[in-house]
Amino acid sequence: MTLEADAFCGGQGTVGIGIPGLPNADDGTLFTANVPAAMGKPLPQDLAALIGREVRIDNDANCFALSEAWDDEFRRYPVVLGLILGTGVGGGLIVDGKVVSGRNYIAGEFGHFRLPVDALEVLGRDIPRVACGCGHHGCIENYISGRGFEWMYAHFYQRQLPATQIIAHYQAGEPQAVEHVARFLDVLAICLGNLLTIIDPHLLVIGGGLSNFDAIYQALPQRLPKSLLRVARLPRIEKARYGDAGGVRGAAFLNVVDVIR
Ligand SMILES: [Zn+2]
Repeated sequence: MTLEADAFCGGQGTVGIGIPGLPNADDGTLFTANVPAAMGKPLPQDLAALIGREVRIDNDANCFALSEAWDDEFRRYPVVLGLILGTGVGGGLIVDGKVVSGRNYIAGEFGHFRLPVDALEVLGRDIPRVACGCGHHGCIENYISGRGFEWMYAHFYQRQLPATQIIAHYQAGEPQAVEHVARFLDVLAICLGNLLTIIDPHLLVIGGGLSNFDAIYQALPQRLPKSLLRVARLPRIEKARYGDAGGVRGAAFLNVVDVIR
């Protein structure tokens, strides 16, 4: 297949892979619970030996952010924060077109930031500190993801509804759904306010299922300033442009940009 691709492109191509997991920065082995066959294996080296070319690999959320940062219009921004609001919360940080992966490849694991104190003012100080898949409690992933959106609704109104239905009720002006969405957007803005204060990106790109909820793009510019330093100007805030193809597109860029560690 690589030979077919080479013939098609008229030269030897390179290979980039985005994985749901973390490459080990020290020995190149993978931590990837969802791909058991590759768990603990030096996949890039093994594949490179097999197909006779360099193989680069990165976390799929980093690949998503890389893809957006290399958009023709977005690539002029030096610091791009890619945020995924999907089943969980993840993302990546791109500086000067390169992935910042960090010491442990966990830069961009924004979902495991703990709920800020301001959020407790909105949610109530007795809000349950939800157990997170990472082993901690109260990570923001459990509140501002699509799953968190549904959990928060069930917590306050004792009704389990899928996010799509809650949003339909919101759009129909149903009072509980309207109140819920306002509370959710308050918490989202508080959590993002902390992230923006640390990273101060020029561009914030939001992907994942909840990125299709357009109320987010009206609400954030109104709510964010309260959570930012007074001198801070808002970054440009955009919906991701490459949808489900973002991870694959970003992986293809891994070979044209170097990874900062
Ligand atoms: Zn966590």
